[in-house]
Amino acid sequence: MTERIDDNAFAAKCRLFLDANAERLDAASATLEDSDAIPVFDSPERSEEEAQLAVARDWQRALFDAGLAWIDGPTDYGGAGLAHHHQEVFDEMCAQYRLPKLNTLFVTFHIVLPGLLAAASDDLKRRLVPALLRGDLIACQLFSEPGAGSDLSAVSTRAVRAEGGAVWVATGQKVWTSGGHYSDIGLLLARTSDDDVPHRRLTMFVVDMHDPAIEVRPLREMSGGAHFNEVFIDGLHIQDSCRVGDVNGGWRVAMATLGGERKAVGYSSDAPNWVVVQRLLELARTAAHRGQIAASVVDAVVRCYVLGSAIEHTAANLAAAERRGDTRGPEMSTLKLLRNRLLRDCIDTAGHILGMNMLADSGERGTYAWGYASTLAPGLRIGGGTDEIQKNIIGERLLGLPRDR
Ligand SMILES: Cc1cc2nc3c(=O)[nH]c(=O)nc-3n(C[C@H](O)[C@H](O)[C@H](O)COP(=O)(O)OP(=O)(O)OC[C@H]3O[C@@H](n4cnc5c(N)ncnc54)[C@H](O)[C@@H]3O)c2cc1C
Repeated sequence: MTERIDDNAFAAKCRLFLDANAERLDAASATLEDSDAIPVFDSPERSEEEAQLAVARDWQRALFDAGLAWIDGPTDYGGAGLAHHHQEVFDEMCAQYRLPKLNTLFVTFHIVLPGLLAAASDDLKRRLVPALLRGDLIACQLFSEPGAGSDLSAVSTRAVRAEGGAVWVATGQKVWTSGGHYSDIGLLLARTSDDDVPHRRLTMFVVDMHDPAIEVRPLREMSGGAHFNEVFIDGLHIQDSCRVGDVNGGWRVAMATLGGERKAVGYSSDAPNWVVVQRLLELARTAAHRGQIAASVVDAVVRCYVLGSAIEHTAANLAAAERRGDTRGPEMSTLKLLRNRLLRDCIDTAGHILGMNMLADSGERGTYAWGYASTLAPGLRIGGGTDEIQKNIIGERLLGLPRDR
């Protein structure tokens, strides 16, 4: 139920909270960032990651306790039960403050929560959603396997019923599990049937990542970080009450989670976006002042600016449509593809300006940050559905072209 609250009183409450918990940006500091990082996604060293996680948990706890973690969400699941425009008021105010990085909670909020909200039982939602919103629980996504990525219907981790049906026993291996090493729970997609139709073979569960039947092993990336893991599951007991959605109905839940992820990548301020273009403009202006920029590179910079502007406008239009209740699905694939393209073009153009300076970390602002981003950027073309899969979605669902298979 939507609670009635005076708009001015609500705005005053938000202001009080933000003043107490975050640093207000003045006009100068709002544009001048301390860091020269290119916003791709973060893959920090473990110690830095732990510090980010602690800050993110503290922030969520404060937000939740002030009733601001999910302003327009239902009170039964930890929301504040207010109208959507209250959420907008708070979001607009947040833009005036330096807020903590919440990368470590991306999977929790944008992948696992949408899946639970779409399909979990009332009891499971009441148990888990408030704890996730408060940062008391952190979640990971246990979908991909060595033999199943783009084609999730090929998942081979098995869950079989035991003890008269009250419990399932799961065994198998997952891979590329972002944040699995600091997660408390995981959303596990497992094979539960041998139905002729692959999409009817899967069931979704919530599992306890601290269970001794689960082993998490880190995977080192070319960026130097280790935000991915392999997860080995050996005889894990899962209560049937932790099933999310129907038996053999896991495909629908998986699609709900992937929709949430695409939406977040499409709209997210952490997505490769306008900031990347601004960093490129900063670099190009400096090079131009030194007389070190070729005409062909100026062309490339302008092309990046134009593409970036088009993406920003498209994202704003899609977000406005979504707010009106006009839910968009396949359009998000367009945005994800374009954002990846923009990031690649900006990094390539920066490389033409910086040359060898992009390769070694000399400490000079705006140089190696581009080299580091180039080690992370390919991951964005793969995670959340590869570029090729996005093109299939656009072809089939937006353009009505023949199915891939
Ligand atoms: C940054 C990042 C974070 C991730 N986090 C997680 C996570 O937390 N949890 C999780 O479960 N997984 C995660 N993943 C894994 C990710 O979901 C998979 O890597 C992705 O789905 C692709 O699967 P794959 O790697 O097995 O490649 P494959 O599916 O084997 O694809 C290999 C190549 O074939 C192409 N291809 C495949 N099928 C088709 C088709 N039908 N048409 C055209 N081309 C096709 C692909 O585009 C790709 O180029 C993450 C990946 C990345 C990069």
